[in-house]
Amino acid sequence: MTWRATVLTLFPEMFPGPLGVSLAGKALASGLWRLEARDIRDSATDRHRSVDDTPAGGGPGMVLRADVLAAAIDAAEPALDRPRLLMSPRGRPLTQSLVAELAAGPGPLIVCGRFEGVDQRVIEARGLQEISIGDYVLSGGEIAAMALIDACVRLLPGVMGKPASGADESFSAGLLEYPQFTRPQAFEGRTIPDILTSGDHAKIAAWRRAEAEALTRLRRPDLWAAIAAGQKAAKGTTDG
Ligand code: SAH
Repeated sequence: MTWRATVLTLFPEMFPGPLGVSLAGKALASGLWRLEARDIRDSATDRHRSVDDTPAGGGPGMVLRADVLAAAIDAAEPALDRPRLLMSPRGRPLTQSLVAELAAGPGPLIVCGRFEGVDQRVIEARGLQEISIGDYVLSGGEIAAMALIDACVRLLPGVMGKPASGADESFSAGLLEYPQFTRPQAFEGRTIPDILTSGDHAKIAAWRRAEAEALTRLRRPDLWAAIAAGQKAAKGTTDG
C-alpha cells in the first residue's frame, strides 16, 4: 500500500503547496506517496454551510463544530486502521521518533484546526491524537500538517537519494547533527577542518560524533539529559 496523508481543512487550496516541490513534490508526482486534501465545509449541513460557532461559556473567536467535523472525518475515513491526528498546540510534541513511526504506517488522517480550535467532544468521540509542532500558536493547522507530512515523506522508501541519509542526521541518535562543509576548501579565510579531507573514515566518524555531542550538550541540554538517562538505564539492565 502506498503511504497516504488525508488532510481535513477549511483551506484545501493550500495543498500540496510546498509539498508539491523538490523532494516531496517529485515523490508525489512519481506516486511514492499520496495526498488528499478534503474540505471540512463540504460536511456542513445548513444553508450557510457554517462550520463554526461561538465558544460555549463566552470568550473571543469561534470554535469548529463537533457535528460538522465528525461528519467530515466519517466521510473521509470510515476505517479505523489509520492514525487520526489533530494538529494542536496542546498536543504531544512532534519528534523524529514519532515521525518515523508515522512514516512506517499507512499514513495518517490529519485534522487542521482554525479559529480558537475544535469542540472537545469530537476529539474524544473520534479518538483524535493531538500533535503539536512547537510551543507557539499558528493561525491554523495546515502549516503544522505540512511540517509533519514533509518530515514523514522524506523517510519513505525511495524518496531520499541514499537510504542512509536519514540515519545519520539530527535526532536520529538523539543528537543534533555535526557541522557540514563542502567546496570551496577556503571561504573568506575559513578552511574545512583537515580531518574531513584526510580520508581516514574512522577518525572522521569520531570527529563527527564528538562535534554532535558537544553541540547537543551546549544547545539542547534536554536532549543531552535524555541520552544520559538512556545510557544509565541500559547500563542498569546489563548490570542487573
Ligand atoms: N486557542 C487555541 C489555539 C488555536 S490556533 C489554543 O490556545 O490552544 C488554531 C489552530 O491552529 C489549532 O486548532 C491547531 O490546529 C493549529 N495550531 C496552532 N498552533 C499549533 C501548533 N503549535 N502545533 C500544531 N497545530 C497548531
